[in-house]
Amino acid sequence: MAGEALLVSTREGLWCPAGGFHIDPWRPVARAVLTHAHADHARPGSATYLTAAPGVAVAALRVGAAAVSGLSYGERVTLGDVQVSFHPSGHLLGSAQVRIEHRGQVWVVSGDYKTGPDPTCAPLEPVRCHVFISESTFALPIYRWAPPAELFAEIDAWWRANQARERTSVLFAYALGKAQRILAGVDAGIGPLLVHGAVARFLPAYRAAGCALPEVVGSEAAASVRGRGLVLAPPSAAGSPWLRRFGTISTAFASGWMQVRGNRRRRNLDRGFALSDHADWNGLIEVIRATGAARVLLTHGQAPTLERWLREQGFDAELLHVGFDDDGDGEALIEAELEAADGAGAQSATAAGRVVHPSPAPA
Ligand SMILES: [Zn+2]
Ligand SMILES: [Zn+2]
Repeated sequence: MAGEALLVSTREGLWCPAGGFHIDPWRPVARAVLTHAHADHARPGSATYLTAAPGVAVAALRVGAAAVSGLSYGERVTLGDVQVSFHPSGHLLGSAQVRIEHRGQVWVVSGDYKTGPDPTCAPLEPVRCHVFISESTFALPIYRWAPPAELFAEIDAWWRANQARERTSVLFAYALGKAQRILAGVDAGIGPLLVHGAVARFLPAYRAAGCALPEVVGSEAAASVRGRGLVLAPPSAAGSPWLRRFGTISTAFASGWMQVRGNRRRRNLDRGFALSDHADWNGLIEVIRATGAARVLLTHGQAPTLERWLREQGFDAELLHVGFDDDGDGEALIEAELEAADGAGAQSATAAGRVVHPSPAPA
């Protein structure tokens, strides 16, 4: 690679010296450029935030409305000495890859991304660049996602089967992005839908963005969904007293981590659906190739395996240490969150009458 580094890793996060801004900083800075509104990328305290226009409303819920401005996908703005633009990353509403151009050099920061269909956000558009900074959350060959339509059919079938036994279906899913994707994907004709407050707070932004979501009720209407409804709740609600209002429940978790069967068994979940908002192994490779980048820097996740694979293919690949995986609540961190919830909530789960039964093997 010729030329200076357009982005460097600092205490505050990824810093663009020529542009005078940080990308997804985890400490307060003067000017933050955001890839998306997950809490491990969008942290409060910075003076200003710039993000893709469809993501302004959800980012404002994280960092405060006054500080956030938006730029349409593909539109270019000059910051300092560089040109910056946002391009869809397919991860959730308003998620973006950040393209930075400076004296003929183009760097792209992927943020989190996925390649499969998702009606709640714009599909990923690979961006040609010299240097690609890629996430690597599920960068192991064992991660291969089934088509979402198949996974939604499984979720619907599980919900119907629970209904037949008069059990409330409780599906744990990350509150921003995943939960809305599930609402858009399940068959709302099966029965009533109830969302936890952590999910509900993001729904107006999705509806305002033109995302078609079915009607839902809040937890005050728990009696109306008992034994027949589908409840969407964040993983932190697992084992909590909040679940008692739903009577006899069957639990499931929608996450890429559910591809590893031990994760479901260890969590005492009845079902796991490997529905992810991150690219699987093939998706990562497909996108990296499509960028045309010779140099690939890998952030949070299972980077060493992918780094080795890319080097074998002739890429100049290396790990980039940034703070995304230190804390926060992206899908990469749900493991830890569930772990905590399990420890704290094992007894209340029993008190809530949670039904544990052997689950059929996933398709
Ligand atoms: Zn994310
Ligand atoms: Zn992330």
